[in-house]
Amino acid sequence: MKKNFITLMSLLALNSPLTAVPEFHNLLNQSTTMSTADIKKLIPAHPFLIEAAEVHEILQTSGLTLHELMQKLIPIAQELSHPAISQYKVGAVGLGESGAIYLGVNLEFTEFPLNQCVHGEQFLVANMKNAGETGLVSIALSAAPCGHCRQFLNEIDDGQSIKILIPNRSPLKLSELLPDSFGPQDLGFKGGLLNPLPMLEANHACPVTAKALQAAQQSYAPYSNSQSGVAIKTRDAQIFTGSYLENVGFNPSLSPLQTALVALFVAGKDYEDISEVVLVEDLAPMISQAAITEQLLKSVAPEAAFKLEKIDLPQRQWRIQKCGNTSIH
Ligand SMILES: [Zn+2]
Repeated sequence: MKKNFITLMSLLALNSPLTAVPEFHNLLNQSTTMSTADIKKLIPAHPFLIEAAEVHEILQTSGLTLHELMQKLIPIAQELSHPAISQYKVGAVGLGESGAIYLGVNLEFTEFPLNQCVHGEQFLVANMKNAGETGLVSIALSAAPCGHCRQFLNEIDDGQSIKILIPNRSPLKLSELLPDSFGPQDLGFKGGLLNPLPMLEANHACPVTAKALQAAQQSYAPYSNSQSGVAIKTRDAQIFTGSYLENVGFNPSLSPLQTALVALFVAGKDYEDISEVVLVEDLAPMISQAAITEQLLKSVAPEAAFKLEKIDLPQRQWRIQKCGNTSIH
Protein backbone atom coordinates (compact mmCIF):
# COMPACT_ATOMS: atom_id res chain seq x y z
CA MET A 1 0.00 0.00 0.00
CA LYS A 2 1.38 3.34 -0.99
CA LYS A 3 1.57 5.36 2.21
CA ASN A 4 0.03 8.78 1.95
CA PHE A 5 0.93 11.75 4.06
CA ILE A 6 -2.80 12.28 4.56
CA THR A 7 -3.88 9.94 7.31
CA LEU A 8 -7.33 8.68 8.10
CA MET A 9 -7.27 10.71 11.32
CA SER A 10 -6.65 13.92 9.38
CA LEU A 11 -9.55 13.10 7.06
CA LEU A 12 -11.84 12.49 9.98
CA ALA A 13 -10.60 15.66 11.65
CA LEU A 14 -11.37 17.50 8.42
CA ASN A 15 -15.00 16.50 8.74
CA SER A 16 -16.03 17.64 12.16
CA PRO A 17 -14.56 21.16 12.43
CA LEU A 18 -16.02 22.21 9.08
CA THR A 19 -19.51 22.63 10.43
CA ALA A 20 -18.18 24.99 13.10
CA VAL A 21 -16.63 27.39 10.56
CA PRO A 22 -19.23 29.80 9.07
CA GLU A 23 -17.78 30.04 5.54
CA PHE A 24 -17.90 26.27 5.25
CA HIS A 25 -21.60 26.24 6.11
CA ASN A 26 -22.39 27.72 2.70
CA LEU A 27 -20.15 25.20 0.97
CA LEU A 28 -21.77 22.40 2.93
CA ASN A 29 -25.25 23.61 2.03
CA GLN A 30 -24.21 23.70 -1.63
CA SER A 31 -22.52 20.34 -1.33
CA THR A 32 -25.63 18.50 -0.22
CA THR A 33 -27.21 19.47 -3.55
CA MET A 34 -24.17 18.39 -5.59
CA SER A 35 -25.26 16.13 -8.40
CA THR A 36 -23.61 12.89 -9.46
CA ALA A 37 -22.27 14.78 -12.51
CA ASP A 38 -20.66 17.37 -10.20
CA ILE A 39 -19.01 14.63 -8.14
CA LYS A 40 -17.75 12.87 -11.29
CA LYS A 41 -15.80 16.02 -12.20
CA LEU A 42 -13.92 15.76 -8.90
CA ILE A 43 -12.98 12.06 -8.90
CA PRO A 44 -10.52 10.02 -10.98
CA ALA A 45 -11.67 8.54 -14.31
CA HIS A 46 -11.37 5.03 -12.82
CA PRO A 47 -12.71 5.67 -9.32
CA PHE A 48 -12.41 2.12 -7.91
CA LEU A 49 -9.54 3.37 -5.75
CA ILE A 50 -9.32 6.98 -4.61
CA GLU A 51 -6.09 7.57 -2.71
CA ALA A 52 -6.20 9.34 0.67
CA ALA A 53 -4.61 12.51 -0.70
CA GLU A 54 -7.22 12.65 -3.48
CA VAL A 55 -10.01 12.08 -0.95
CA HIS A 56 -8.66 14.96 1.11
CA GLU A 57 -8.61 17.23 -1.93
CA ILE A 58 -12.16 16.25 -2.96
CA LEU A 59 -13.45 16.97 0.55
CA GLN A 60 -11.80 20.38 0.57
CA THR A 61 -13.08 21.30 -2.88
CA SER A 62 -16.62 20.04 -2.41
CA GLY A 63 -17.22 20.81 1.24
CA LEU A 64 -18.70 17.35 1.62
CA THR A 65 -18.17 15.35 4.77
CA LEU A 66 -16.47 11.99 4.39
CA HIS A 67 -19.72 10.07 4.75
CA GLU A 68 -21.55 12.42 2.38
CA LEU A 69 -18.86 11.81 -0.24
CA MET A 70 -19.09 8.05 0.26
CA GLN A 71 -22.86 8.14 -0.14
CA LYS A 72 -22.60 10.28 -3.28
CA LEU A 73 -20.18 7.75 -4.77
CA ILE A 74 -22.74 4.93 -4.48
CA PRO A 75 -24.60 5.67 -7.77
CA ILE A 76 -21.25 6.05 -9.54
CA ALA A 77 -20.28 2.58 -8.28
CA GLN A 78 -23.65 1.17 -9.36
CA GLU A 79 -23.01 2.36 -12.92
CA LEU A 80 -19.84 0.24 -12.96
CA SER A 81 -21.55 -2.99 -11.88
CA HIS A 82 -21.92 -6.12 -14.03
CA PRO A 83 -25.29 -7.62 -13.03
CA ALA A 84 -25.57 -9.82 -16.14
CA ILE A 85 -28.31 -11.98 -14.59
CA SER A 86 -30.23 -9.98 -11.98
CA GLN A 87 -29.88 -6.52 -13.57
CA TYR A 88 -29.74 -5.41 -9.91
CA LYS A 89 -26.95 -2.85 -9.55
CA VAL A 90 -25.04 -2.97 -6.27
CA GLY A 91 -22.75 -0.14 -5.24
CA ALA A 92 -20.43 -0.41 -2.23
CA VAL A 93 -18.08 2.36 -1.08
CA GLY A 94 -15.54 1.57 1.62
CA LEU A 95 -13.19 3.71 3.68
CA GLY A 96 -9.88 2.00 4.40
CA GLU A 97 -7.83 2.72 7.49
CA SER A 98 -5.24 4.39 5.21
CA GLY A 99 -7.87 7.02 4.36
CA ALA A 100 -8.29 5.75 0.78
CA ILE A 101 -11.79 5.11 -0.59
CA TYR A 102 -12.56 1.92 -2.53
CA LEU A 103 -15.53 0.99 -4.70
CA GLY A 104 -17.16 -2.39 -5.04
CA VAL A 105 -19.77 -3.67 -7.50
CA ASN A 106 -21.52 -6.96 -8.19
CA LEU A 107 -20.11 -9.26 -10.87
CA GLU A 108 -22.48 -11.89 -12.25
CA PHE A 109 -21.50 -14.61 -14.71
CA THR A 110 -23.96 -16.00 -17.22
CA GLU A 111 -23.72 -19.71 -18.13
CA PHE A 112 -22.19 -20.43 -14.72
CA PRO A 113 -23.66 -21.38 -11.30
CA LEU A 114 -24.97 -18.46 -9.28
CA ASN A 115 -22.73 -19.28 -6.32
CA GLN A 116 -19.75 -18.01 -8.34
CA CYS A 117 -21.13 -14.45 -8.50
CA VAL A 118 -19.11 -11.81 -6.66
CA HIS A 119 -21.24 -9.58 -4.44
CA GLY A 120 -20.54 -5.86 -4.26
CA GLU A 121 -19.20 -5.99 -0.71
CA GLN A 122 -16.95 -8.94 -1.64
CA PHE A 123 -15.65 -7.02 -4.67
CA LEU A 124 -14.94 -4.08 -2.37
CA VAL A 125 -12.94 -6.17 0.13
CA ALA A 126 -11.04 -7.98 -2.65
CA ASN A 127 -10.23 -4.58 -4.17
CA MET A 128 -8.86 -3.44 -0.80
CA LYS A 129 -6.85 -6.64 -0.32
CA ASN A 130 -5.37 -6.36 -3.82
CA ALA A 131 -4.28 -2.79 -3.01
CA GLY A 132 -2.65 -3.83 0.28
CA GLU A 133 -5.21 -2.02 2.44
CA THR A 134 -5.14 -3.34 6.01
CA GLY A 135 -8.48 -2.31 7.51
CA LEU A 136 -12.07 -1.36 6.66
CA VAL A 137 -13.46 1.48 8.79
CA SER A 138 -16.86 2.12 7.24
CA ILE A 139 -18.89 1.12 4.22
CA ALA A 140 -21.73 2.94 2.41
CA LEU A 141 -24.13 0.73 0.47
CA SER A 142 -26.90 1.09 -2.09
CA ALA A 143 -29.03 -1.27 0.03
CA ALA A 144 -28.73 -3.31 3.23
CA PRO A 145 -26.12 -6.07 2.83
CA CYS A 146 -27.33 -9.61 2.23
CA GLY A 147 -26.56 -12.32 4.81
CA HIS A 148 -23.75 -13.72 2.63
CA CYS A 149 -21.97 -10.34 2.69
CA ARG A 150 -22.51 -9.78 6.41
CA GLN A 151 -20.75 -13.12 6.93
CA PHE A 152 -17.97 -12.17 4.51
CA LEU A 153 -17.32 -8.83 6.28
CA ASN A 154 -17.17 -10.65 9.63
CA GLU A 155 -13.90 -12.27 8.50
CA ILE A 156 -12.10 -8.92 8.79
CA ASP A 157 -10.20 -8.28 12.01
CA ASP A 158 -12.56 -6.39 14.38
CA GLY A 159 -15.18 -6.70 11.65
CA GLN A 160 -17.99 -6.39 14.17
CA SER A 161 -17.18 -2.69 14.61
CA ILE A 162 -17.25 -1.79 10.89
CA LYS A 163 -19.69 1.08 10.45
CA ILE A 164 -22.39 0.39 7.84
CA LEU A 165 -24.26 3.24 6.11
CA ILE A 166 -27.54 2.18 4.54
CA PRO A 167 -29.92 4.64 2.79
CA ASN A 168 -32.50 6.20 5.11
CA ARG A 169 -31.05 4.56 8.22
CA SER A 170 -28.79 5.75 11.02
CA PRO A 171 -25.27 4.28 10.80
CA LEU A 172 -25.08 0.76 12.18
CA LYS A 173 -22.26 -1.49 13.27
CA LEU A 174 -21.86 -4.90 11.66
CA SER A 175 -22.47 -6.40 15.11
CA GLU A 176 -26.01 -4.96 14.96
CA LEU A 177 -26.63 -6.48 11.52
CA LEU A 178 -25.04 -9.83 12.39
CA PRO A 179 -25.90 -10.64 16.02
CA ASP A 180 -24.90 -14.03 17.46
CA SER A 181 -22.50 -14.40 14.55
CA PHE A 182 -20.57 -17.50 13.60
CA GLY A 183 -17.04 -16.19 13.33
CA PRO A 184 -13.45 -17.34 12.87
CA GLN A 185 -13.14 -17.83 16.64
CA ASP A 186 -15.75 -20.60 16.47
CA LEU A 187 -13.25 -22.67 14.51
CA GLY A 188 -10.28 -21.59 16.63
CA PHE A 189 -9.01 -18.75 14.45
CA LYS A 190 -8.71 -15.00 14.98
CA GLY A 191 -9.67 -13.97 11.46
CA GLY A 192 -8.02 -10.96 9.91
CA LEU A 193 -8.69 -11.22 6.18
CA LEU A 194 -7.10 -7.82 5.57
CA ASN A 195 -4.23 -8.23 8.04
CA PRO A 196 -0.86 -7.73 6.31
CA LEU A 197 1.15 -10.86 5.53
CA PRO A 198 4.91 -10.99 5.12
CA MET A 199 5.92 -10.46 1.48
CA LEU A 200 8.10 -13.40 0.47
CA GLU A 201 10.39 -13.72 -2.51
CA ALA A 202 8.57 -15.03 -5.54
CA ASN A 203 11.21 -15.91 -8.09
CA HIS A 204 10.18 -17.73 -11.22
CA ALA A 205 11.46 -17.69 -14.77
CA CYS A 206 7.97 -16.86 -16.07
CA PRO A 207 6.89 -13.35 -14.96
CA VAL A 208 3.19 -14.27 -15.04
CA THR A 209 3.79 -17.29 -12.81
CA ALA A 210 5.98 -15.19 -10.49
CA LYS A 211 3.06 -12.75 -10.02
CA ALA A 212 0.63 -15.63 -9.39
CA LEU A 213 3.06 -17.07 -6.84
CA GLN A 214 3.25 -13.72 -5.05
CA ALA A 215 -0.56 -13.58 -4.99
CA ALA A 216 -0.71 -17.13 -3.60
CA GLN A 217 1.63 -16.12 -0.77
CA GLN A 218 -0.74 -13.25 0.07
CA SER A 219 -3.84 -15.46 0.17
CA TYR A 220 -5.94 -15.78 3.31
CA ALA A 221 -6.58 -19.49 3.79
CA PRO A 222 -6.75 -20.31 7.50
CA TYR A 223 -9.33 -23.09 7.21
CA SER A 224 -7.79 -25.20 4.45
CA ASN A 225 -4.21 -23.87 4.49
CA SER A 226 -4.45 -24.23 0.71
CA GLN A 227 -2.98 -20.99 -0.53
CA SER A 228 -3.51 -20.12 -4.16
CA GLY A 229 -3.15 -17.15 -6.46
CA VAL A 230 -4.04 -16.18 -10.01
CA ALA A 231 -2.30 -13.88 -12.47
CA ILE A 232 -4.18 -12.62 -15.51
CA LYS A 233 -2.13 -11.45 -18.48
CA THR A 234 -3.98 -9.12 -20.82
CA ARG A 235 -3.52 -8.67 -24.57
CA ASP A 236 -1.56 -5.46 -23.94
CA ALA A 237 0.88 -7.46 -21.73
CA GLN A 238 -0.28 -6.12 -18.35
CA ILE A 239 -0.58 -8.50 -15.40
CA PHE A 240 -3.35 -8.44 -12.76
CA THR A 241 -3.40 -10.69 -9.73
CA GLY A 242 -5.79 -12.02 -7.12
CA SER A 243 -5.36 -14.05 -3.93
CA TYR A 244 -7.65 -16.74 -2.56
CA LEU A 245 -9.80 -15.36 0.33
CA GLU A 246 -11.48 -17.85 2.68
CA ASN A 247 -14.44 -17.47 4.98
CA VAL A 248 -15.38 -19.36 8.13
CA GLY A 249 -18.77 -20.04 6.52
CA PHE A 250 -16.79 -21.65 3.65
CA ASN A 251 -19.33 -20.81 0.88
CA PRO A 252 -18.72 -17.02 0.88
CA SER A 253 -15.00 -17.65 0.14
CA LEU A 254 -13.62 -16.00 -3.02
CA SER A 255 -11.48 -17.98 -5.47
CA PRO A 256 -8.24 -16.44 -6.74
CA LEU A 257 -9.72 -16.03 -10.23
CA GLN A 258 -12.64 -14.07 -8.79
CA THR A 259 -10.30 -11.70 -6.93
CA ALA A 260 -8.05 -11.38 -10.01
CA LEU A 261 -11.11 -10.43 -12.08
CA VAL A 262 -11.76 -7.72 -9.49
CA ALA A 263 -8.25 -6.36 -10.19
CA LEU A 264 -8.97 -6.53 -13.94
CA PHE A 265 -12.18 -4.49 -13.64
CA VAL A 266 -10.59 -2.02 -11.20
CA ALA A 267 -8.05 -1.30 -13.96
CA GLY A 268 -10.86 -0.61 -16.45
CA LYS A 269 -10.29 -3.85 -18.41
CA ASP A 270 -12.84 -6.48 -19.38
CA TYR A 271 -13.03 -10.22 -20.12
CA GLU A 272 -12.07 -9.83 -23.78
CA ASP A 273 -8.74 -8.32 -22.69
CA ILE A 274 -7.64 -11.61 -21.06
CA SER A 275 -5.03 -13.57 -23.03
CA GLU A 276 -3.58 -15.91 -20.38
CA VAL A 277 -4.30 -17.03 -16.82
CA VAL A 278 -1.87 -18.79 -14.48
CA LEU A 279 -3.04 -20.44 -11.26
CA VAL A 280 -0.44 -21.23 -8.60
CA GLU A 281 -1.28 -23.62 -5.81
CA ASP A 282 0.54 -25.96 -3.45
CA LEU A 283 1.93 -29.33 -4.51
CA ALA A 284 -0.75 -31.24 -2.57
CA PRO A 285 -3.38 -28.78 -1.34
CA MET A 286 -6.29 -29.89 0.83
CA ILE A 287 -8.57 -28.15 -1.67
CA SER A 288 -7.77 -27.30 -5.28
CA GLN A 289 -8.90 -24.27 -7.28
CA ALA A 290 -7.86 -25.82 -10.60
CA ALA A 291 -11.22 -27.15 -11.85
CA ILE A 292 -13.28 -24.09 -10.87
CA THR A 293 -10.68 -21.70 -12.29
CA GLU A 294 -10.52 -23.47 -15.63
CA GLN A 295 -14.31 -23.70 -15.88
CA LEU A 296 -14.99 -20.06 -14.97
CA LEU A 297 -12.28 -18.93 -17.37
CA LYS A 298 -13.83 -20.99 -20.18
CA SER A 299 -17.11 -19.27 -19.45
CA VAL A 300 -15.89 -15.64 -19.39
CA ALA A 301 -12.87 -15.77 -21.73
CA PRO A 302 -12.99 -18.97 -23.82
CA GLU A 303 -10.05 -17.92 -25.98
CA ALA A 304 -7.68 -17.39 -23.06
CA ALA A 305 -4.89 -19.88 -22.28
CA PHE A 306 -4.90 -21.52 -18.83
CA LYS A 307 -1.89 -22.90 -16.97
CA LEU A 308 -1.75 -24.61 -13.57
CA GLU A 309 1.56 -24.36 -11.70
CA LYS A 310 2.10 -26.56 -8.65
CA ILE A 311 4.69 -25.00 -6.34
CA ASP A 312 5.83 -25.95 -2.84
CA LEU A 313 4.34 -23.06 -0.85
CA PRO A 314 5.40 -22.21 2.72
CA GLN A 315 2.69 -23.23 5.17
CA ARG A 316 1.29 -20.62 7.53
CA GLN A 317 0.04 -21.23 11.07
CA TRP A 318 -3.27 -19.45 11.47
CA ARG A 319 -4.70 -20.94 14.64
CA ILE A 320 -5.15 -18.88 17.80
CA GLN A 321 -2.24 -19.52 20.12
CA LYS A 322 -2.62 -19.93 23.86
CA CYS A 323 -1.77 -16.24 24.39
CA GLY A 324 -4.77 -15.36 22.20
CA ASN A 325 -2.82 -13.88 19.31
CA THR A 326 -3.00 -15.15 15.79
CA SER A 327 0.26 -16.67 14.72
CA ILE A 328 1.10 -15.89 11.12
CA HIS A 329 4.49 -16.98 9.89
ZN1 LIG B 1 -24.32 -9.71 -0.78
